[in-house]
Amino acid sequence: MGLDFILNELKALEDRALMREYKTIESAQGPYVQINGKSYLSFCSNNYLGLADHPKIKQAAIAAINQYGWGACASRLVAGNMLLHEELEKKIAEFKGTEAALLFPTGYMTNVGAICALAGREDIVIGDKLNHASIIDGCRQSGAIFRVYPHNDVSQLESLLLRSSTYRRRLVVTDSVFSMDGDTAPLPEIVEIAQKYDAIIMVDDAHATGVFGQHGEGMIGHCGLEGKIDIIMGSLSKAVGSIGGFIAGSRHLVNFLKNKARPFIYTTSLPPAACAASLAGLALIQEDTSLIYKLWENIRYLKSQLSEFISNISAESPIIPIIIGSAEDALNLATRLYENGILIPAIRPPTVPLGTSRLRISLMATHSKEDIDKLTTTLKPQMAQKVKLSVKSVVAKDFKEGYAQTDVG
Ligand SMILES: *Cc1c(COP(=O)(O)O)cnc(C)c1O
Repeated sequence: MGLDFILNELKALEDRALMREYKTIESAQGPYVQINGKSYLSFCSNNYLGLADHPKIKQAAIAAINQYGWGACASRLVAGNMLLHEELEKKIAEFKGTEAALLFPTGYMTNVGAICALAGREDIVIGDKLNHASIIDGCRQSGAIFRVYPHNDVSQLESLLLRSSTYRRRLVVTDSVFSMDGDTAPLPEIVEIAQKYDAIIMVDDAHATGVFGQHGEGMIGHCGLEGKIDIIMGSLSKAVGSIGGFIAGSRHLVNFLKNKARPFIYTTSLPPAACAASLAGLALIQEDTSLIYKLWENIRYLKSQLSEFISNISAESPIIPIIIGSAEDALNLATRLYENGILIPAIRPPTVPLGTSRLRISLMATHSKEDIDKLTTTLKPQMAQKVKLSVKSVVAKDFKEGYAQTDVG
């Protein structure tokens, strides 16, 4: 007995092609990465603008290390609040067009912290079925009643709001760009409905920050909804090329979270150099719109190339999924691409619903046209072969385990 169950559970994952493993990257993050001494073309990073390895960001981090050292070694509220944390929060607020902002060590902690602070046992949180895992975990931990509506279905959202008037507070929360599907939420309609029922509205702008809007400010600016979102959540670990999460909103909201959000209070603040890197990243995004332009050019180009041999390719963002179906088929396809020098891991349940295992392509501004051509010419014959189906009882078993992530409410 003892830990024997671990072996059984691992075996069960293996049998269903659901075992997760990672590759070891031996280089910086860029369009090409080195693994086992070999170079691979990477189409799976959230480094949308290629900033993770940008000289200006590296310089900013190095200069900050020289001035402030590395670790912050205390919570913000004890002795870990340093100049660069405050400077970055000011910059984020300016970037997002809000009164104030509050940093968290990661985006995951931001969602959990904010939702748990805002909603409790007397409240209801209503969210999209495909919201990010960190939102779902926040909802679960909050103790609030948690209901999901079918993906992007605003009429179902409305009917949930209509039936929830007895709760103390109602929080509506949605991703702006959905992380595994790459499609976007109908924010103007969601905002209108949330306002109609006097609900609080929270938008997770993790994948839109640095990608949407005139100056990369995100989906709220892109949709002209400035001032209408109570709580804007974002991550600095994607297009900004750094690390950290944030809430942008009113001064009062930030003050409230500072006092109530446990993942803010009970953890060490970010290394100041990470804040310097984020500051440099945000400045670059604002100043050099050619990066965003290049990213969108790549999105349009890949979409047109893929559409020649795959139907219904949607490309509303740099995340472009190719839905394969079973976990095993997706894994096989990913392995073949890897053998051909292309890195796109298969995304499988419970990250995505059963039967929708996929290749999740994500693009960078720093991919060249030739890089994209290499992807499509490698992918095309594989798709034509339509990855041999060896269904086993994969699907039936998958179903039992289910789509654990968002199967709530
Ligand atoms: C990545 C992601 C997060 C978490 O952000 P991290 O900074 O990586 O912890 C939150 N929400 C969404 C939609 C994401 O894609």
